[in-house]
Amino acid sequence: MFSTHSFRSTWLEVDLTRLKENLKSIFTHANKKSMIAVVKADGYGHGAVEIARTLEQEGVSWFAVATLDEAIELRENGVRGDILVLGPVDHRWQREIINCGCVATVVSLAEAEHLSKTAVALDKSLRVHVKVDTGMGRFGILFEQAFSDISAMMELPGITVEGCFSHLPSADHDREFSEHQIQRMRNLRHDLEKKGVHIPFWHIANSEAVWNLSDAYGTDFTHIRPGISLYGVASVPFANVKTLMTLKTKIVQMKRLSQGSTVSYLRTYRVTMPKEWIAVLPIGYADAVPVVGSGTYEVVIRGKRYPQVGRVCMDSMMVSLGENKEGIREGEEVEIFGGEISLLEFAQKSQRIPYEVMCGVSKRVPRIYRGEEK
Ligand SMILES: *Cc1c(COP(=O)(O)O)cnc(C)c1O
Repeated sequence: MFSTHSFRSTWLEVDLTRLKENLKSIFTHANKKSMIAVVKADGYGHGAVEIARTLEQEGVSWFAVATLDEAIELRENGVRGDILVLGPVDHRWQREIINCGCVATVVSLAEAEHLSKTAVALDKSLRVHVKVDTGMGRFGILFEQAFSDISAMMELPGITVEGCFSHLPSADHDREFSEHQIQRMRNLRHDLEKKGVHIPFWHIANSEAVWNLSDAYGTDFTHIRPGISLYGVASVPFANVKTLMTLKTKIVQMKRLSQGSTVSYLRTYRVTMPKEWIAVLPIGYADAVPVVGSGTYEVVIRGKRYPQVGRVCMDSMMVSLGENKEGIREGEEVEIFGGEISLLEFAQKSQRIPYEVMCGVSKRVPRIYRGEEK
């Protein structure tokens, strides 16, 4: 869990009202299909517990995380809904996954057999969703193998196969390939049902599939499984979602440098005007601002953009206010991204994808929640 305060003037505001609005937009677009909300990596950097709690209040009852630790954190903090652990869990921790009351992902018949043995030995039962690799080339039973392996899993004691899912690597760029993957899952479902094997839950739609591929939430699928669009990012202009994060800081020092002075490591920035006002901000690459974009970022003070200058440091960076500081003073609030400067613009300047920007706000930065239900 992220801290909600610190003794430093750098913070991340997370707007939970927008989360609720994004949820509504996705839900409406996907014809009110049930949702497994993806809150892995601490809710894409927003704070998994707060995100899941808010979504739960809005009626979401399924969550997905990457690791068992993330699932346990949600449970320990009062999230009651079903929690699917998407990633693999090593044999060493099979007892823990059986005992935590979550739903495990199974990626092979051998793993299912092992889990089955452990569950029987503990006199417990584990709910599982089977991951099928229809083209991601990552975790999962290869599509060709799925029918026979899943059929065999249905016979194993101690585990209940209650879901089957797959993942799309290119739902926004490659419609033909994605539709092919969707068709493979539909065929698998039909083949299993013809044989009398009924698995209740089927899901394949990540965020981009919700916007681009209506078959991914058609009648053969029971759930959608979006992540990034809940947090406000989508590739299509008609998607009515907005980002939740605003990263802010305050000026800690201002100084007037003379012509020829240089700013920060390696002295990449040199003052060329007779006098230049430089503001020092207590935020650096250990917080959220990658070095690679040094000298290309802008920040917003009193609604106006100012250029960041010189190398970004670990804990700080500098901004030029120009020859005349325009009345700006120490202690004034500065926006890094999330308002006037969109998360997407910041992503481009820092040479990252939006997912990385969200996950890239380090735990040193406290999260301040807006729009919380009291
Ligand atoms: C991360 C993830 C998602 C969510 O993807 P988005 O692109 O963020 O919507 C869905 N399914 C799986 C298996 C994932 O790993």
